[in-house]
Amino acid sequence: MRILIVEDEYTLADALKAKLEKEKYVVDIAIDGEEGLYNALSNIYDLIILDVMLPYKDGFEILKEIREKDIESKVIMLTARGELEDKLNGLENGANDYITKPFHTEEVLARVNIQLKNPIKSNNKNIIKFGDLKLDVSKSKLICITNCTEVELVKKEFLVLEYFMNNPNQILSKEQLYDKVWGLDNEIESNNLEVYLSFVRRKLKAIGSNVIIKSSRGLGYKMEDQNE
Ligand code: CA
Repeated sequence: MRILIVEDEYTLADALKAKLEKEKYVVDIAIDGEEGLYNALSNIYDLIILDVMLPYKDGFEILKEIREKDIESKVIMLTARGELEDKLNGLENGANDYITKPFHTEEVLARVNIQLKNPIKSNNKNIIKFGDLKLDVSKSKLICITNCTEVELVKKEFLVLEYFMNNPNQILSKEQLYDKVWGLDNEIESNNLEVYLSFVRRKLKAIGSNVIIKSSRGLGYKMEDQNE
């Protein structure tokens, strides 16, 4: 899952990023309000950690604009101590939670995990299931339940599979996949996606899964269970 941190204090943003990346989240940082809004409007983020006091555009303006554009990323606001009005303002404008500064990165991680509880994940929040597949999020491992076979994944393969398994039976466009896996500002070779898809398909075959990733010419790709 992809998280955006909009925070102008570099050290704080870096500490949060490091903490969240340890938990396998993919994290981008924006260091002012304009960049933050631009990134947020791309609609590729599952969650946005949004500071209130920012250069050029404050957190509330950003929140207001993204909610007006129907972007449903979860938003956790960071407010200075005792700014009760900020909190109320934020929650009214569609923030999902707020955290008061100063805080421990542990606390932020806990709140992020609460917001990103995914309904199709099983009781164990580190497992995503589809068909005969089980994706172990904490170990970056893909398991075929019926065959008791498993294979390890590199980061990009993991991100591709996570996105498909959270959105099975839906066509995902190339653009959606690029943005989710590579993010906004990375220059990438245009055939990278196909390369990683072929790696992932090979791994699905290697563990004997019935799940496939189908190409729909001109539209994108779809994960399907052949047994259904
Ligand atoms: Ca700030």
